[in-house]
Amino acid sequence: MSQGTLFIVSAPSGAGKTSLVRELIESLDGIQVSVSHTTRDMRPGEVDGVNYHFVDMATFDGMVEQGDFFEHARVFNNCYGTSRSAVEKLLAAGQDVILEIDWQGARQVRSQVPEAVSIFILPPSRDELERRLSSRGTDDHQIVTARMHEAVSEMSHYAEYDYLVINDDFTTALEELRALIIAHRLRTPRLAQRHQPLLNALLSD
Ligand code: 5GP
Repeated sequence: MSQGTLFIVSAPSGAGKTSLVRELIESLDGIQVSVSHTTRDMRPGEVDGVNYHFVDMATFDGMVEQGDFFEHARVFNNCYGTSRSAVEKLLAAGQDVILEIDWQGARQVRSQVPEAVSIFILPPSRDELERRLSSRGTDDHQIVTARMHEAVSEMSHYAEYDYLVINDDFTTALEELRALIIAHRLRTPRLAQRHQPLLNALLSD
């Protein structure tokens, strides 16, 4: 069986990454999102094992020491990491895997898997980003300013990515993401690997 492809998706908070990725995997077969481990508190509506594996700092540190993480990073005071074994299992089963990770994790993945495909999602404007960050249940000016600062810091790494998607209209952004995944599935090495019997049959005299 052929290996799946690793897709890295990064974005600042407020760009709509999680909703886009959720719709994306619902609209395509053979692709899954890796569930990260994190030390941050669970937010209302989140489910352990679905949104994240929520762990304490000691568990996280133990996993780092054991080499359990494919990549891991501290992002704005919390730790996040991608389980190596979970990702390897999915890829080996021929599934494409999306890693929703920050720019630091993206760098670590690229250095280990240079053929990983990386996508950065941007908001359509600074005003719209601020509006999206303000309407997250907090209108506290200081909190919004801090969130904007974090978002700008994440966005400053956009040029390290293979593709950029601007999430102005949700449907258009989703179509663009779908197009990227589908195009990569049609790349010659990957398609040839999956359709070797067809190619053999077509080329036999
Ligand atoms: P949140 O806490 O809002 O879900 O995520 C905060 C940030 O952490 C986002 O930029 C998200 O992409 C990043 N993140 C989530 N999981 C991982 C992970 O496993 N590794 C890394 N490096 N970043 C992650």
